[in-house]
Amino acid sequence: MTLTATAAPARTRRLTGFKPTGHLHLGNLLGALRPLIAAQDAADSVALIADLHAMTVEHDPAAVRELALEQVTLMLAAGVDPSRTPIVLQSHVAQHTELHYLLECVTGFGEAARMIQFKEKSAAGGPVRLSLLTYPVLMAADILLYDIAQVPVGEDQNQHLELTRTLATRFNTRYGHTFTVPDGVRPESAARVMDLAEPTAKMGKTSGSGTGRIGLLDPPEVVRRIISRAVTDDVAVVRRDPERQPGITNLIDILSACTGRPPTETGSYGVLKREVTDAVEALLTPIQARHAELVADPGHVRRVLADSADRVRPTAAATVRRARTALGLLD
Ligand code: AMP
Repeated sequence: MTLTATAAPARTRRLTGFKPTGHLHLGNLLGALRPLIAAQDAADSVALIADLHAMTVEHDPAAVRELALEQVTLMLAAGVDPSRTPIVLQSHVAQHTELHYLLECVTGFGEAARMIQFKEKSAAGGPVRLSLLTYPVLMAADILLYDIAQVPVGEDQNQHLELTRTLATRFNTRYGHTFTVPDGVRPESAARVMDLAEPTAKMGKTSGSGTGRIGLLDPPEVVRRIISRAVTDDVAVVRRDPERQPGITNLIDILSACTGRPPTETGSYGVLKREVTDAVEALLTPIQARHAELVADPGHVRRVLADSADRVRPTAAATVRRARTALGLLD
């Protein structure tokens, strides 16, 4: 028997993106940030603040700038370690837009027009930016640029990931192997947090009721009020039943995600709400304290962005170089 040295398994590259279209909320923390932080040892993750995506709909320039800075600051406060997980502002790495154009050249108009978000927003009437049609291609560029192997996705983003896989495979087949074709993953630790006032809708930065969203910077009294007013039902039994008791199910799941304990079906609605309030506060208090410290040192936050962009740029540039060459562009 011969013994051969086994190479360490290649570390997986993962990308998690956040759009600076609103304040980060509990859904972002439990569904995306905490899984990202939990995977810092196992995967080479990239956290992307997708400011270019924030411009696909009517936007306020000052708000995009402020929200982007707030998001980096909150990511650091929540425990993203930029020495392991670069926090990249999309517009700082010009290769995103360059690869976007190159990928547009392998995308059909019909393929882009079939994307649900474009269909829904354009059907609603009013002006539609051309970038809303093409942003799934920019999203594909975001992923392919960094040789990403895994993208954490919720059901509502499956269509975009599928487009990315289709474009990468098509490009590789026609022009020679250029891109890593990514897989969608659902991290076990990722919770799906529903709106507390409208528990059949996902808690969102701009969607949902607005009154059922817990912002990561909301003060304790606001958190308490939102949870005390969370919609329940008249079944009067604490039970996980997403169909018949979506509000109670959401509270049970939030409690479990905050504490790391398995979901439990005991107690009364009042007790459950108190427990959820305590658990959310216990989670947010240290993040808010660290956020306050970081806000006092804006230079540090800007340096994290600049250093992160510097670190990922060589990979991005190498990918674009491969794509340019494959497509027939001269050096
Ligand atoms: P977005 O808020 O759309 O920029 O999404 C940023 C990240 O947070 C993505 O990974 C989303 O899947 C995740 N996310 C957003 N809202 C929720 C939610 N209500 N529950 C769980 N994850 C969420």
